[in-house]
Amino acid sequence: MNRRRFLRTAAGAGVVLGAGPCPFLEELYAFGPSANLSDVEARYYRKLPDREVECVLCPRNCRLGDKERGYCGVRENRDGRYVTLVYGKACAANVDPIEKKPFFHFRPGTTSFSIASAGCNVNCRFCQNWEISQVRPEQVRHSDLLPEAVVAAALRTGCASIAYTYSEPVVFYEYMYDTAVAARRRGLKSAVVTGGHINREPLEALLEVVDAVKVDLKAFRDGFYREYVRGELKPVLEAIRTIAAGKVWLEIVYLVIPTLNDDPAEIRDMARWVREAAGPDVPVHFSRFQPMYMMKNLPPTPVSTLEKARAVALEEGLRFVYIGNVPGHAAENTVCPGCGRTLIERYVFDIRRLDLKDGRCPYCRTAIPGVWT
Ligand code: SF4
Repeated sequence: MNRRRFLRTAAGAGVVLGAGPCPFLEELYAFGPSANLSDVEARYYRKLPDREVECVLCPRNCRLGDKERGYCGVRENRDGRYVTLVYGKACAANVDPIEKKPFFHFRPGTTSFSIASAGCNVNCRFCQNWEISQVRPEQVRHSDLLPEAVVAAALRTGCASIAYTYSEPVVFYEYMYDTAVAARRRGLKSAVVTGGHINREPLEALLEVVDAVKVDLKAFRDGFYREYVRGELKPVLEAIRTIAAGKVWLEIVYLVIPTLNDDPAEIRDMARWVREAAGPDVPVHFSRFQPMYMMKNLPPTPVSTLEKARAVALEEGLRFVYIGNVPGHAAENTVCPGCGRTLIERYVFDIRRLDLKDGRCPYCRTAIPGVWT
């Protein structure tokens, strides 16, 4: 049995691993297994002799013969024409608080219509969404949800933005891009949640149509990226630099994993680099690790480790440093760097109090960077 037939058979037999939508969306859209994938032409590839292609969307630059797929599993060479298999194929669609992404300085207190397709261009040993990111599109339930339908659903559910999230939106680039264009036409913003493995040209084009990007910076050592991410640190840093140089709002999340990327010297190097390359106003979230996927051998991050990381980043001059996945911790709140008053009080994804006036501290008038309205 060839690979394609095996996958079709597996999908038909109900090998369905995908994360499901919220009940409201379950009523609206029929999520189900599908061998009916898209064949929309990919936007960043080069044709090579003998019907080969080179994908130039992400730093892997996969070179593929006819019928082969790239590392991400969602792009295929069909007789020298390179296609995306997941255009309009949402394997997850939910209405989430924007704080869940997390974005803390981007439209706080609003909801974001959050979509994903299958696949990813790295393989993190600690992935939280491996059921959809580390599988082929045939292996997840998905709904046919074209860009205009995503926008309509976002408007209908009262969302202020659309988030491209859960898996890795770089691998569903064309779907994300067209949805962002359609969203902007209808007054909705777009927020990208990514690992940052993307080449400069597609990234610069994307930055023209989206409003915010959150990058998961998974460590500040290349060895960690090679061993636990199956990726590289350098292109992620280049992507952060490119985003910071543009007009799009940027936040960074650093998942602190005990013994692997929690050395204060590494945190200090990272914080110093962020300050110099992206500026001191970029919010940095130190997020608590929970054991999962292929990394169940380590305990959750001690809160004291997160607090130490935060203290180091503040010492290095970062002005907005948060602790995530620790409900009720004071470092969920936004504090004015001018007068020290608490301006935004949060509890997990809830905004308990928002005390800003025209993007400024109402007490000392210090400007608080972000997208507030
Ligand atoms: S997007 Fe996918 S196919 Fe393209 S280079 Fe990256 S991993 Fe390879």
